[in-house]
Amino acid sequence: MLIKTAEFVISNSDVDRCPKDYLPEYAFIGRSNVGKSSLINMLTNHKNLAKTSGRPGKTQLINHFLINKNWFLVDLPGYGYAKVSKTAKKKFQKFITNYFEKRTQLVSAFVLVDIRHEPQKIDLEFMEYLGISEIPFSIIFTKADKLKPKAIERHVEDYCQELLKTWAELPPYFVSSSSKTIGRDDILQFIEDTNQQINALR
Ligand code: GDP
Repeated sequence: MLIKTAEFVISNSDVDRCPKDYLPEYAFIGRSNVGKSSLINMLTNHKNLAKTSGRPGKTQLINHFLINKNWFLVDLPGYGYAKVSKTAKKKFQKFITNYFEKRTQLVSAFVLVDIRHEPQKIDLEFMEYLGISEIPFSIIFTKADKLKPKAIERHVEDYCQELLKTWAELPPYFVSSSSKTIGRDDILQFIEDTNQQINALR
């Protein structure tokens, strides 16, 4: 997919104030500092569409970006950052779950995980929540440039083995690096294919 336009539309913490347009929507979520803003900037070919955060836990809003005037990319708040107070954590968890439960335009989520790390409880629990809520999702392994090809393979394989302990089937997954522009074409192709399937059904 060629990215012709990428425009910021609105930020808010209330799902009822998200855009009313009935366009397919893809949400990006993961632990703070996982590389979500960098990935969004890489996907959209923008240096600064999503703010790369020096201070994790800062961007606690639902951010809508309109891509090619025909689908929304949604940047959701990072979860699981220890320095966010318990109350703030609860609040953004609530509006994240509100978003997932109410947003009928949502087609699929992308859960970002740092390829270097062992499977983290909070990510596995979040995927379980998506599964129970019947929300399709893919995994994006980030920062692949930090590992050698063999190690990438091994980490992905280990992650899949962990998932297969509780999941009957693996979700689609992508390996990415924003610094080396890895994974961009595959992720955008996946979105384009999914959009085409939706249009065919309409
Ligand atoms: P966010 O908090 O999830 O939005 O993460 P950011 O995109 O702000 O990135 C967090 C940190 O990881 C920053 O220091 C980025 O420069 C770094 N980072 C993000 N993506 C990559 C990547 O693909 N490779 C490497 N080596 N570093 C990355």
